[in-house]
Amino acid sequence: MTAVKKAHLPVAEPPQVRRAATRLIRRDGRAFAAAIALNALAAAAGLVGPWLLGSVINTVRAGGGVATVDRYALVILLCSVAQLVLARYARLVGHRFGERTSARIREQLVDRALALPASVVERAGTGDLAARGTTDVAAVSTALRDAGPDVFIAAVQALFILGAVFVLDPLLGGCGVLGLLGIWFATRWYLRRAPAAYLAEGEANSMMAEVLSATASGARTVEAFGLQRRRIEVCQEAVERARRTRLRTLSLRSVLFPSVEVSYEIPVVAVLLAGGLLLGDGAGGGGGAGVVSLGAVVSCALYLRQLSQPLDTILLWVEQLQSSSASFARVEGLALAPSTPVCGGPTPSDDRIAVEDVWYAYDSGRAEPRDVLRGVDLTVRPGERLAVVGPSGAGKSTLGRLLAGVDRPRAGSVTVGGVPIADLDPGQLRRQVVLVTQEHHVFTDTIRDNLLIAAPSATDEEICAALDAVGADWIDELPDGLDTVPGATATGAAEVRIDGARAQQLALARVVLADPHTLVLDEATALLDPATARHAERALAAVLEGRTVIAIAHRLDTARDADRVAVMDDGRLTELGTHDALVAAGGPYAELWRSWHGDPQTRR
Ligand code: ADP
Repeated sequence: MTAVKKAHLPVAEPPQVRRAATRLIRRDGRAFAAAIALNALAAAAGLVGPWLLGSVINTVRAGGGVATVDRYALVILLCSVAQLVLARYARLVGHRFGERTSARIREQLVDRALALPASVVERAGTGDLAARGTTDVAAVSTALRDAGPDVFIAAVQALFILGAVFVLDPLLGGCGVLGLLGIWFATRWYLRRAPAAYLAEGEANSMMAEVLSATASGARTVEAFGLQRRRIEVCQEAVERARRTRLRTLSLRSVLFPSVEVSYEIPVVAVLLAGGLLLGDGAGGGGGAGVVSLGAVVSCALYLRQLSQPLDTILLWVEQLQSSSASFARVEGLALAPSTPVCGGPTPSDDRIAVEDVWYAYDSGRAEPRDVLRGVDLTVRPGERLAVVGPSGAGKSTLGRLLAGVDRPRAGSVTVGGVPIADLDPGQLRRQVVLVTQEHHVFTDTIRDNLLIAAPSATDEEICAALDAVGADWIDELPDGLDTVPGATATGAAEVRIDGARAQQLALARVVLADPHTLVLDEATALLDPATARHAERALAAVLEGRTVIAIAHRLDTARDADRVAVMDDGRLTELGTHDALVAAGGPYAELWRSWHGDPQTRR
């Protein structure tokens, strides 16, 4: 198995991420504003306690009575209750905003994923898309639901607390802020190193899991080839690397957390020391007539002590926010991927399909992709049956994909009625050309909805007629008819199974409903067992009636019965003509035909 480097889906740049975040906030602006207002009120209520405590001290020093202290205590109690209630509602509104916004992100992601052309998804690999739709969206949701509101509340609290310290006494506020510098430096030091260290740890863990599971799943091969020693070495290396990277992240944390813990105390100590000096300077032991009052010093110290709680919350989530902003950049990146053309483009003037000097290369991540179609020219006449033959890897299926508008050529053009097929919107495209392969997907939805994909406005009569045309008479026996959901048990009835043959009939019924003038058949019946294949071919014959057919022929029978045969070899169209003319010409097709014709095995 070769590992083909996938062409990843795009990732949004920071300005695009910021714009997307602003858009999301604007869409729920009222809830966002309410969350801010409630948070601000809760933070303000939280400030009253230490402030009044300072006043209590000043009152007592000035010889105030018990009644005044009681009044202060009552207000402190009321403010604490108000803070509790306001914080509860702030959180509720914040969480609701988070949930609604993450629901919007999910919906947007589904819309964008559905708008991606099949070729883009194929190139990127479904893994990337699935990871964005699951892990990344979950990370963004957690950030919006928990980290975002928590950090937001904490930031508002911290700002209010600092503001209060400055209002109480700018000098003490200055001392406090200077004392906080330690946290600033410790966090900066950590954040500079943490992303790379965590990335390395994540990579080392994935590598270790990969190596261990590959060794376990390939145990027999390891044993058969005596590779035990080598595999043990490889596993030990991977485990050692994971251990080293883990130690690195642990050592970073072992520096950060103690430094931060100590740093929380520094502003308090600084305020107490400065307060002591200022009090000593001016108070002269009297009733608070110095540069600062004792109450102000105590309030400031209490505020700065309070600051540790919001700062802790911010530090706790800061990493989560960093990684979820990376996830959001990946989720938003889908908006930058090319999307399926939207309705309203030019309409083809007729049913003629023309391939002109077409070159195509799969984007496999290599610097110089190899052309698998090289200067193909071909015109398909309306109503014609054209068989495309050639050795495996010649480019037949690739040509089929371009003819069906799944992909667009690197150079040259593939048009229907003068319009590039890949520019047609899905609704227009399915009325022009449909690709029929052996891959048929039946959605866990009613049979009716499974068929309406092809013709959203079809009536039940039209759906039944299409099913009838492809010989799907089993529909009549279903308990709920068109309302039957495959795989589900209908009110106690037996489970309705859709096997390969039935799935293909549903796929063909979709074609009948879409009613395209041209069909591209690629291995449409190749994987079915012979009896089913015969059945399917009869259904197919009914579908082909009256349409242009381009059949990628794996059996030369198809080529003999076709109006013309196109022979491909190594990305080029080497011969084109009727079966008889090509056999008579004695070229590569005649050679193919002779070798096939002479081999009774292949004729069966
Ligand atoms: P055919 O249908 O004649 O067997 P294909 O069109 O499937 O040929 O393939 C033509 C060439 O393109 C082959 O070399 C094949 O390996 C390559 N190819 C086909 N599909 C892909 C893909 N998804 N990514 C990269 N290369 C591909």
